[in-house]
Amino acid sequence: MNPRFSVVIPFFNEAESLDELYQRLVAALEPLGSFEIIFIDDGSTDQSFTVAQRLFTADRRVRVIKFRRNLGKSAALSQGFQGARGELVVTIDADLQDEPREIPRLVEALDRFDLVTGWKQQRNDPWTKRFPSKVFNGAARLLFGVRLNDLNSGLKVMRREVATAIDLYGEFHRFVPILAFLQGFRIGEVPVGHHQRKYGQSKYGWKRFVRGALDLMTVAFLGRFANRPLHLFGTLGLGCFGLGFVIALYLTIIWWQGQSIGQRPLLTFAVLLMLTGLQFLFTGLLAELITSRSAPRRYPVEQVLDRQHGNGR
Ligand code: UDP
Ligand code: MG
Repeated sequence: MNPRFSVVIPFFNEAESLDELYQRLVAALEPLGSFEIIFIDDGSTDQSFTVAQRLFTADRRVRVIKFRRNLGKSAALSQGFQGARGELVVTIDADLQDEPREIPRLVEALDRFDLVTGWKQQRNDPWTKRFPSKVFNGAARLLFGVRLNDLNSGLKVMRREVATAIDLYGEFHRFVPILAFLQGFRIGEVPVGHHQRKYGQSKYGWKRFVRGALDLMTVAFLGRFANRPLHLFGTLGLGCFGLGFVIALYLTIIWWQGQSIGQRPLLTFAVLLMLTGLQFLFTGLLAELITSRSAPRRYPVEQVLDRQHGNGR
């Protein structure tokens, strides 16, 4: 029979933490119902896998997936989600920064939401991480209109259908609630405690900020225009081309009236605008070509009532 919970734990060189994490998790989950714990070894080079293997041998509820090399947290989560059998999927970081005792409160909130994420109200990280994170969360709130304070807590609980619906790759793990929101799932948050990293160090350096900002752009773009890219590029293209055309027309008229225009910076500007506009337009058409040729589009269907297929999903 399928367990109630699947806990998905990606880890990369967290050998010192895994035992303690396992024990705290079991203590937190046992009162809540049946569960499985899926460890994903994201190419660790320390003793992590040996520790996970030992847990696997000792407990039938533990499953372990090992990547050949480090592929990133998103890949690891995605792999775990695919195999999850639980009705609810829990994600938690392996480094003991998240507190397993908070899980019941997140689960409680699930009767109003499809995904509940932890809000690290008192975050125990250096300000060099907290400040950019504030900017990031603020930008995401503005762009998507989601009312969350903290997007990227390692601790989340969601219905399994959310986990299987979102497509995680690259470093999209920072956007799990947004990706769910864009599919029409109801998302919420619950304040949770947060600890300092006890062992080892953070696996992400300054690059996370650049990548986070770029990915924010990608998610915003895909969320809105994945199925109609020309609406974005075409609007920009027509805008630029139109403005350039009007300026060029004006220059043509005064040239007819006998003024010389060859030296005017405005001429260069007009040509530039028209060329840029055409570039945007053709980029948009290429994007349409790609989306029209790719696999059949999938839409976030919630339910199907159809006598041919029974009244299920
Ligand atoms: N992690 C992973 N693969 C990676 C980097 C990180 O599986 O390439 C795991 C890591 O072991 C931890 C979680 O993702 O369980 C969060 O990573 P980390 O604590 O380094 O991030 P931070 O807390 O600094 O945001
Ligand atoms: Mg951490």
